[in-house]
Amino acid sequence: MLYDLHALRKRKVTLKVSIALRVILPICQNGNSLVTYERSELNRGLTVDCCTKKLIAWYDKHHRLLPWRQTRNIYHTWVCEVMSQQTTLAVVTPKFAEFVKHLPTVDDLAACDEEKLRQLWSGLGYYARARNLKKGAQCIVERRNGNFPQSYQEWLEIPGCGSYTAAAIASICCHEKVACVDGNVIRVVSRLLALQDVWSSLGKSAIQAYVTRIQPDNRPGDFNQAMMELGATVCRKTKPQCLLCPLQEHCLAFAKNCIELCPPKKPRRDAVNVELFAVVIWRKTTDAIAIVKRTKGFLSNTVGFPLVSENEVEETKNLLKSLPHLQLLELPNRFSHSITHHRISTKVLVAQEIENASVAPQIHILQDLYWVARSDINSKLSTSLDKKVLLLFQNYYAT
Ligand code: SF4
Repeated sequence: MLYDLHALRKRKVTLKVSIALRVILPICQNGNSLVTYERSELNRGLTVDCCTKKLIAWYDKHHRLLPWRQTRNIYHTWVCEVMSQQTTLAVVTPKFAEFVKHLPTVDDLAACDEEKLRQLWSGLGYYARARNLKKGAQCIVERRNGNFPQSYQEWLEIPGCGSYTAAAIASICCHEKVACVDGNVIRVVSRLLALQDVWSSLGKSAIQAYVTRIQPDNRPGDFNQAMMELGATVCRKTKPQCLLCPLQEHCLAFAKNCIELCPPKKPRRDAVNVELFAVVIWRKTTDAIAIVKRTKGFLSNTVGFPLVSENEVEETKNLLKSLPHLQLLELPNRFSHSITHHRISTKVLVAQEIENASVAPQIHILQDLYWVARSDINSKLSTSLDKKVLLLFQNYYAT
């Protein structure tokens, strides 16, 4: 239980909070059931209008001037929504500008070759998003003659476009009343209503229903952006800026001083430890490094150094040592890298070419490689893990 009513009354919180508390208390006592949400006076408009107006007024005044907000360009909105999933805005903003400069239209994206797409996506991570974006562009060009979908339901039919992305685009660009609920919005609602059960499917449905209920008819897209913006800039995960918050007087977690409990930590999947060896094949005479497009296994569909699992490493080392034109060295340091719930401990093997190979290599790790000048390689690597491998290699050979 997050608070008790008696103690809260003694603290003489504002009338509005008291009203909200009477309304929300059954929700907290009984869990986030949709029934209690439906019955809630709050949802019938007692304070919603006022709350929503304050939120939008705050957004109008304080929202960040991000490049994709300068115009209502549906293509830009789509690209930025996909880029922003699981990547911070500090990384997304320059990458977005570069992306739309090189691929200014959906036709350009649909026709973009794999190599160029990888380069433009490099640094954003989760490359599958770029592949899906391109598939979506091809669908729009080929099946819709280049016309963008104009509703939430139509966007859902675009490959790779999930409910969150569809809701964001439909509300922002098509002014459709459909709520976006991401991690920021879950946090804001959890705190506003002092809710704890927010990660279960019932909890998520309840929050979706609540946000849909309070979304205004006239500015649904701005409302969605305002909720997300509030979560990103004011109602932050750590150190929320409650004194600057436009919704402070409506916020139950603030009134009860239990913000740090709302929302509770998301239950994590158990971490899986992975041991990997990255092989840097280096042609010192031309200072070129070989990379590969990985087609299977861990990090498939990414470009980087050949990766070898712990089980394969001894065999691979023996094979590399048996090749007369290569000299093998295992770098002393290892580094850790996390991708979703995988904790990857990585070591680097350097296979330095001591003479030009005149025969085609016969072992699988040396097949399908292509050489890239060391000065150009950073932009070719798809993942942060590969960039860390490169850094370790560069540091070692700089000493
Ligand atoms: S008052 Fe604080 S905790 Fe409540 S919504 Fe605003 S920033 Fe979040």
